[in-house]
Amino acid sequence: MRAVLFDLDDTILNYSDGVEDCWAAACRDHAPDGLDAEELRQAVYAARRWFWDDPERHRRERTDMLGAYTKIVAAAFAVLERNGSAAAGAARSTELSRRIAQAFNAARFELVVPLPGALALLERLHAAKIPLGLVTNGDAAQQRAKIERHGLARFFGAVVIEGEFGAGKPDAAVFEHALKELGAKPEHSWMVGDNPEFDVGGARALGLRAVWVNRFARIFPGTLPHAPDKVVKSLAELDGWGPG
Ligand SMILES: [Mg+2]
Repeated sequence: MRAVLFDLDDTILNYSDGVEDCWAAACRDHAPDGLDAEELRQAVYAARRWFWDDPERHRRERTDMLGAYTKIVAAAFAVLERNGSAAAGAARSTELSRRIAQAFNAARFELVVPLPGALALLERLHAAKIPLGLVTNGDAAQQRAKIERHGLARFFGAVVIEGEFGAGKPDAAVFEHALKELGAKPEHSWMVGDNPEFDVGGARALGLRAVWVNRFARIFPGTLPHAPDKVVKSLAELDGWGPG
């Protein structure tokens, strides 16, 4: 049986556009008295880089996104306090980090929409009775909420969410589990995703073929052992494509 597995964020759903605006608004609306909102935004930006750039921390924290955002804001306050801001020091001991994280999180959720061509592709493959799976890393509640809001569950015979399953891409267990639920073999199946390491690398290591969705015209990392079989800028380019 041929099957196609899909990643969710920045493959089916536009999860990245508008993120900076959401952080800026959360800082603007909630900066404590005596602390400049732009200074807070910049400190949060630096804290995000620090927080997510560590692969081990990324893996550990991405299954609780609200908790991660709260830690990021608290880390920003801590840096500002060390740099002499009494207002940041006072804010750090309150619930303000969580309130800013919640404001960001809610605004971001509202912005997420399907990417061009995504629903049409899912509709077409589903209508052609090709078994489809969704394999997504991250927070169980958040991924479920996105699936629900955009009516995606009906397309998929298998949905594997890291926060529920207990392992994430590129772990082979994720792909194996989805394919088993679909009754498909790796060598007859494809993975479609935007992350070179998690989506393309994880799938190719198990013998699936992979479509790399390269929305931002990036260079595929030469350090990875497996190149994608097909590269598109948008799922709209897969009009007419099917697992061969
Ligand atoms: Mg993705």
